[in-house]
Amino acid sequence: MESIAVPTETMAPEGTTNAYLVESALVDPAGRTDALDRAVAQRDVDHVLVTHVHPDHVGGVAHYADVCDATVWARAGRERRFVDATGVEPDRTFRGGTRVGPLTAVDTPGHAPDHVAFEYGEALLTGDLVVAEGSVVVAGRRTDGEGAAHPATGEGDVRSYLVSLRRLHARDPATLHPGHGPVIDDPRAQIRRLIDHRLAREERVADAVRSGARTLADVTDAAYDKDVSSVRSLAEATVAAHLEKLDAESAVAWDGRRAEPRS
Ligand SMILES: [Zn+2]
Repeated sequence: MESIAVPTETMAPEGTTNAYLVESALVDPAGRTDALDRAVAQRDVDHVLVTHVHPDHVGGVAHYADVCDATVWARAGRERRFVDATGVEPDRTFRGGTRVGPLTAVDTPGHAPDHVAFEYGEALLTGDLVVAEGSVVVAGRRTDGEGAAHPATGEGDVRSYLVSLRRLHARDPATLHPGHGPVIDDPRAQIRRLIDHRLAREERVADAVRSGARTLADVTDAAYDKDVSSVRSLAEATVAAHLEKLDAESAVAWDGRRAEPRS
């Protein structure tokens, strides 16, 4: 497996997205670069596919599909979304469990509704499901008309995200290969850290509502200790995603504008 960091417009601290070459498969060609050109030229790429279609993962799909004359794959049921993001009609579709060349697709929604991981032996290519440091964006809907801070805003689903992390934990892979940043060689510890982080945030959000916070702004102020002013919009979208989950679980009433505790 070969990983090539592609500079992208991304929120990730590295400012790059990892494209992966795994035998005959090219995963997340985030853009065209000389390094990726060279790597692709050294093998027969038969399959082009992405973990999800956020703009920082798809910039090179059309180009590499063309120069490699490769089969372009999309998640079944998400073809329209794939075409909108890549400008390419997929040749074939996959579902969880489908074999694509050397890879097997694993459904892992949450960060995005079409998000998948790809299994390769003991390794998992995990897209934006995990990162070695910090946490990934799982952003809910905002109803105040604020502009989107991130392409993920409005489509994050914390419940799905936690299920996906637990699915990963159960598979017990040897290594995780994320869409941004370095390889993770202690998967279970990192997955556990990300689950705990998410549940701790949820507890803070629920506490804030119980303590009287009603608006998204007030709940956000109460749920973060650190100064989030530079990423305010994203922090509020993150809190909104937690409120959606708490509402779905009947812990809090949340209509997109106002939160109320439920007894
Ligand atoms: Zn993403």
